[in-house]
Amino acid sequence: MDKNVDFSSLSIREEVFELYEEMVQLRRDMHRVPELMFDLPFTREIILKYLKNLGLKIYEQVGKAGIVAVIENPGPCILLRADMDALNITERNEKEYQSIHTGNMHACGHDGHVTMLLIAAKVLSKMKLSGSVKFLFQPAEEGGHGAREMILDSGYPVLENPSVDSVYGIHLTNAVKMGNIVAAPQWASCSSDYFFIEIIGKGGHASAPFLTIDPISAGCQLVVTLQTIVSRNVDPKHQAVLSVTMFHSGEVFNAIPDDCKIRGTIRTFEPEVRALIEKRIHEICAGIESGFSCKVQLRFEHFYDPIENNEACANQCAATFKKISPQGTRGIVAPLIGEDFFYFTNARPGCFMMLGCGTDELDAPLHSPSFDFDERAMLIGASYWVQLTLDLLSP
Ligand SMILES: [Zn+2]
Ligand SMILES: [Zn+2]
Repeated sequence: MDKNVDFSSLSIREEVFELYEEMVQLRRDMHRVPELMFDLPFTREIILKYLKNLGLKIYEQVGKAGIVAVIENPGPCILLRADMDALNITERNEKEYQSIHTGNMHACGHDGHVTMLLIAAKVLSKMKLSGSVKFLFQPAEEGGHGAREMILDSGYPVLENPSVDSVYGIHLTNAVKMGNIVAAPQWASCSSDYFFIEIIGKGGHASAPFLTIDPISAGCQLVVTLQTIVSRNVDPKHQAVLSVTMFHSGEVFNAIPDDCKIRGTIRTFEPEVRALIEKRIHEICAGIESGFSCKVQLRFEHFYDPIENNEACANQCAATFKKISPQGTRGIVAPLIGEDFFYFTNARPGCFMMLGCGTDELDAPLHSPSFDFDERAMLIGASYWVQLTLDLLSP
């Protein structure tokens, strides 16, 4: 046991604690067989088998591969979400439960998310509630927009029937010590946009550059100038990241190429900052075009919006968490990660919370081939789900 985690100070709910072995088993079964995107046959089978034993109303193919289990009562309706998919990463951990799907790995903790929600569903299915709960198991969080697919599903649009009043999500993270959370009052994840730039010059012999329009010189200048956007245009009280992640041009020693391809990503929170950065990229590209007499083509792809928490919901989540971890701290600054839970918070008030699972031994970040988490963190998460539901829907 990590000496820095004082487990005795936590108030794990008794009904959850009794299911710890079952919890570990579920998580390890899923961890061994990580599946990607919408193709989740084994993971779905585990979830469906477990839910069917609870006698809940189940919708099986929502958003292609999503599953929703519903406890229905008169009163308000809340939605609790877990994502199911893994990543195309080769696991470096050598554990008894390591991935047997070579090349795939649960490196984002989604096996833990599913497990915590299953356990909560089991506990809550035996309780009296004054409202409805939708336990939502989502496919394709890792870049496949699975949340959007589930919301837009024509057979069972998950935010309707009954209409959902508020939405909640948990993400495990080793960046926060176990027993603590980040529950941001507003921005819970950043926007994630991509830019694609192509500089079209005029190639020629390397010995006669004056007869060419050199796209490499123009590209280098462009990359350097892009770096001034965050440092010189964005107000330092806002957070933003601009990273150039690809620069391809030329093939040989003795020729200046025709073109240069540059790609990168922008991360930020506020829509004004997002718009400012885009505007500056346009202006810089136009400046490079006239300054170097080349052509610059620019295209953006808006991949993820930021998750905007509702402040009252976030405060409720923090208050609930305090009951589970009275000495835990609440962080309010979200990490610069992208998450497709924004499809839910764009439609309904809610809160996406980072649940600390970090210990001295296990501190590899999300998406690392060495990522693993202390499974006792699932006791905290499942207790939190149960407590949150009771706090929101007590008879
Ligand atoms: Zn991830
Ligand atoms: Zn994730």
